[in-house]
Amino acid sequence: MTSHSTYTDTRLLIDNAWCDAASGKTIDVINPASGKTIGRVAHAGIADLDRALAAAQRGFQVWRAIPASERAATMRRAASLLRERAASVASLLTQEQGKPFAQARSEVLAGADIIDWFADEGMRVYGRIVPSRNPTAQQLVFKEPVGPVAAFTPWNFPINQIVRKLGAALASGCSFLVKAPEETPASPAALLQAFVDAGIPPGTVGLVFGDPAEISGYLIPHPIIRKVTFTGSTPVGKQLAALAGAHMKRVTMELGGHAPVIVAEDADVELAVTASGAAKFRNAGQICIAPTRFLVHHSLKEAFTQRMVRLAQDLKLGNGLVESTTLGPLANARRVAAMDKVVENAVSTGATVASGGERVGTSGYFFAPTVLTDVPLDADVFNNEPFGPVVAIRGFDTLDEAVAEANRLEYGLAGYAFTRSISTVQRLSQQMEVGMLWINQPAVSSAEMPFGGIKDSGYGTEGGPEAMEAYLITKAVSIVAG
Ligand code: NAD
Repeated sequence: MTSHSTYTDTRLLIDNAWCDAASGKTIDVINPASGKTIGRVAHAGIADLDRALAAAQRGFQVWRAIPASERAATMRRAASLLRERAASVASLLTQEQGKPFAQARSEVLAGADIIDWFADEGMRVYGRIVPSRNPTAQQLVFKEPVGPVAAFTPWNFPINQIVRKLGAALASGCSFLVKAPEETPASPAALLQAFVDAGIPPGTVGLVFGDPAEISGYLIPHPIIRKVTFTGSTPVGKQLAALAGAHMKRVTMELGGHAPVIVAEDADVELAVTASGAAKFRNAGQICIAPTRFLVHHSLKEAFTQRMVRLAQDLKLGNGLVESTTLGPLANARRVAAMDKVVENAVSTGATVASGGERVGTSGYFFAPTVLTDVPLDADVFNNEPFGPVVAIRGFDTLDEAVAEANRLEYGLAGYAFTRSISTVQRLSQQMEVGMLWINQPAVSSAEMPFGGIKDSGYGTEGGPEAMEAYLITKAVSIVAG
């Protein structure tokens, strides 16, 4: 194992200063590769939140008045610092979250790219001049920042779940207060430190941790907050969206998914396995856009399953800091219990375990990469997002059947398809009820493409120019010279 940064305790960031909670309370942080406590994070109470809110309000007034070009320059400086620090930030990320170091480093570097992209996009927030019906009047449409943002982000991508929101918010001129995950606090802190070091004005960014329900229950209704953005599970998203609705707050919801993978009769099986298998096992399957329901034409099912079993068995399960590791532990003990239940339930409904299916070792949260086949439609894994390293396969006869199954659930986040037929591509592009569709490739997300779901997977998008709209208000101004 090469040498890596020592894990550090994390404090709250308020007004560009790192501070303990007023109560002195902390929460333990656990390394999922060992199950041992490696540090602590400050647990904010209401008094801390009040200070963070007041700072966000002041920060908004300062940041919105800075020209977009200067805001972009600050964001670009932060992105450069993040790139310079990629190895040390990635090391913290692996220690608290578990993913292999190479994946953690890619996450940090992708985060820097996202910040750069939004920095530029902030230069293109244009209004409009609209011809008036009154010849003496001029009609203008302004785009203005919506105001201080409250963001809630999860532990699966501690950096990237923040930067997609942060990049768009800052580029639009909003201040940004994030409740980042208590389980993975140090890498988000390193991300925000890059902004502080880049010279962002105090209060423009803030970071808190604590009891998620208490913090969301306080921030969302608070009059200072004008915009709410959440990434996490559908049930929690629905609660927060309802609370935001009651207080007329703008909302973006990036929620759970249950991505269908349609492997059509004419698909290249090798490509289908390598591309969907890579997407499946990245971050140990704890990804909202991970392929989860593998629908394989009956004529290819045997070959697909055998090849997927080989791919799963070739993965090197271990501590993410060890260079040869390609599959890390699950991020927390809850996920191990959830995977045990998923497998047990699938078997009880008639599925076969073709590979894996159980916890590995007694220390840390390791679960074997698992392939289940002949999975009945009523098995839990075909209905609820598994969020773990489990491939669930079932066969189909006709494309109509596959599309009906793909669209059966209330989720509508990501989808995948493998086929050589242009007419199948066209049909699936039109008929699959998803926010993102990848055809003949693994998931490739980038700042410039929209990222978001439909149906129970949420609303709003966190990529592309559309992502900026979520942080802007539209003001119509009609002028007649006095
Ligand atoms: P969970 O539903 O309790 O929490 C999910 C996330 O929401 C966590 O980051 C948590 O801190 C936050 N959260 C929970 N209650 C909240 C509240 N009242 N206010 C604000 N934030 C709140 O479950 P979990 O065990 O942490 O994760 C399990 C499930 O969450 C997964 O099965 C998956 O469906 C979902 N999840 C989705 C994503 C995603 O990228 N969409 C990421 C992580 C977890």
